[in-house]
Amino acid sequence: MNILISSCLLGEEVRYDGKSSSSSIKNKELFLKIIKEFNVFSICPELSGGLTTPRPPAEIIKEKVITTNGLDVTYMFNQGALNTLSYCKKNSIKIAILKSNSPSCGNSKIYDGTFSSVLKEGEGVTAKLLRKNEIKVFNENQLEQFCDLIKSNLK
Ligand code: SF4
Repeated sequence: MNILISSCLLGEEVRYDGKSSSSSIKNKELFLKIIKEFNVFSICPELSGGLTTPRPPAEIIKEKVITTNGLDVTYMFNQGALNTLSYCKKNSIKIAILKSNSPSCGNSKIYDGTFSSVLKEGEGVTAKLLRKNEIKVFNENQLEQFCDLIKSNLK
């Protein structure tokens, strides 16, 4: 089965600060098992949308994505989301594990737009577009739920 995983979770140094997100995976053993068992595809939506690493951090403010220095990067975030969706469609991917809390990849919480490390309920631009297109999105700390869904679909 083909699955999608955020590039930064796979150790690629594509985050805004030039680092990977490997350290945010709590159950590393299960993560490694998943990588072994599935046919893994990966993408960084922000790089795919035209941004570079490193880059200023960005947060969602109303319907726009704005960087700490006030630049409107909504177009790049939207483009990255569209590219990710077409990558999933092209590779018959119906399930994804994306990095939590990101303005692109976050599936349940995002930063509140004040750049003060406060989280609120919400989805990143890519996670939202995938969900709206019936692709199930989990984050790196919902690996058990990911496995439960796979098991229930196999029954
Ligand atoms: S856009 Fe997604 S894959 Fe890229 S660095 Fe941010 S969280 Fe990771």
